[in-house]
Amino acid sequence: MTKDYYKILEVSEFSTLSEIKSAYRRLARKWHPDVAGNSFDVITRFKEINEAYETLSDKVKKADYDTARRFYNYSSENKEQKTETKNNSTNPNTKKETQKKENKSEKKEKKGFSFNWEEFVTKKYQEAQYKKEQEIPKKGGDIHSDIEISISEAINGTTKVINMLQTQICSKCGGRKFVNGGICSACKGNGDISNYKKFSVRIPAGIKEGSKIRLAGEGEKGLNGGKCGDLYLTVHITKPSDYQIDGLNVLKTIQIAPYEAVLGTTLVINTLQGKVSVKIAPNTKNGQKIRLNNCGIKQNNLVGGMIVTVEIQIPKNLTNEEIELYKRLQDIASGSVREI
Ligand SMILES: [Zn+2]
Repeated sequence: MTKDYYKILEVSEFSTLSEIKSAYRRLARKWHPDVAGNSFDVITRFKEINEAYETLSDKVKKADYDTARRFYNYSSENKEQKTETKNNSTNPNTKKETQKKENKSEKKEKKGFSFNWEEFVTKKYQEAQYKKEQEIPKKGGDIHSDIEISISEAINGTTKVINMLQTQICSKCGGRKFVNGGICSACKGNGDISNYKKFSVRIPAGIKEGSKIRLAGEGEKGLNGGKCGDLYLTVHITKPSDYQIDGLNVLKTIQIAPYEAVLGTTLVINTLQGKVSVKIAPNTKNGQKIRLNNCGIKQNNLVGGMIVTVEIQIPKNLTNEEIELYKRLQDIASGSVREI
């Protein structure tokens, strides 16, 4: 016996049933979770008020409670109890009479209270406990995504700008969903807003396929003030279609026309280190290789080269004029390409 139901209902042991009832109504209204809020303390108080009323409004339960209460008070607080017991013993008749009078109205009103308080209060109590658990700060989840870079970006390092859908706490309502008692117009009552966010991602030089880059705090938002999760980007290096890698060297094939092979020319070639102007000497043979120093892969202090293989190719869709010129060339040819 630790709870004083009389104290909880703010009535005395000699209050009439109608006084108890009206005290209960006043307190139940005041401490109803819909009015006083769904906090743990409010629910606990509301539960106690209902418990107290359930006992003090029931003749049998009240008598049992009073006996137990008197016994408890007698054994724990001897001095104070003496007066109370005395008072009590002088009044039993008055008390009985009042209770009799009120029996009728009690029955009538019980219909209005045909609601299962115990179930309701237990449910509210469980909800409050659940809510309390929910208030523990939780770190937001991590987000995993991929990022594609070219081989030259992997070798030299780069900065990539990516666009990612991100959910953030609404800045207008601060995640509370309401502003001045109305639903927040910015987040429409969600408490958070999803937007595409641009990230500038720095890729260090020499990064390997499958490496992960972590952007701290850019994952899902935390709950109840918990930290945000992280964003992890897995790096994928796209395979080059126009060259091959051999150690630190890059191998590339370029096509030239027969007249370029004979007369020589200058070509601009894309290398890992940028565009390079390459001179094709007169009389260049098919399959001839040209090495471009320092145009390959950089690793530590070493730099490879680009090895260009020249391939002589006859242009497609030769015009009649061009064919005429080849015929003329055939007629005047001085040497043979075959050894007889
Ligand atoms: Zn909002």
